[in-house]
Parts: sequence; structure tokens; C-alpha cells
Amino acid sequence: MDSLKRSFKCQQCGACCRWSGHVLLIDTDITRLAAAAGLSEEAFIARYTELAANRCQLSLTNAPDGSCILLKENRCSLYKARPDQCRDFPFGWRVAEGCPALDAPDETGAV
Ligand code: SF4
Repeated sequence: MDSLKRSFKCQQCGACCRWSGHVLLIDTDITRLAAAAGLSEEAFIARYTELAANRCQLSLTNAPDGSCILLKENRCSLYKARPDQCRDFPFGWRVAEGCPALDAPDETGAV
């Protein structure tokens, strides 16, 4: 894990924001995102969230093409306030392929 943290360099391709799935939100995510968007928490929830498939919490809504609703011009429009789930990528979770920074050979030689 430490070698991955040292060697991982996000290439800002936006791929992980377009993968199918859900960005699950916790209360502190909503507080941070709403403030960054200049909205009340209630307004942010109404505009950008939906009940998650687990029916226990909210998730960010997907755009019609399946990407995250906050992805604009291939960038997270609220990047500095992005949810914890997004901050955890790729150290807390990741998929087998589709991220060029993970798929590229490690130039440091770290394993
Ligand atoms: S909140 Fe931002 S970083 Fe997270 S999936 Fe959406 S666009 Fe990507």
C-alpha cells in the first residue's frame, strides 16, 4: 500500500468518475459539498443526490451518460470538497483496470 501511495500519480483522466456505480455520501461529505457549491444542505441534497441502492444513505446522482453528476468537462467541479469515497481512490478501493495511472508500468520499480 505504501509503495502504491508513493508511486500513484493521478493523470486527471476522469475515468474513475465515469465508472458505473455510486458515490456514497456521509454527513460530512454533504456538509462540505453543499458549502463548496454555495447551497444549503437541503438544496444540495435535492439537486445532486438520490437514495443509494443500499437504501441506507444518499449517493451522488449519475448524469444521463452514467458519469458522476459533478463531473464537468472531465474534471470534478467540486474537487476540493469531493466525498471521502473519492479521496480513498485508489488506496481504499479500486477496480481491476481502467485507470491509466494504475495500469501503467510503475517507473519507480516499486511493487
Ligand atoms: S464527486 Fe468528483 S471526484 Fe467524486 S466521482 Fe464525482 S466528479 Fe469524480
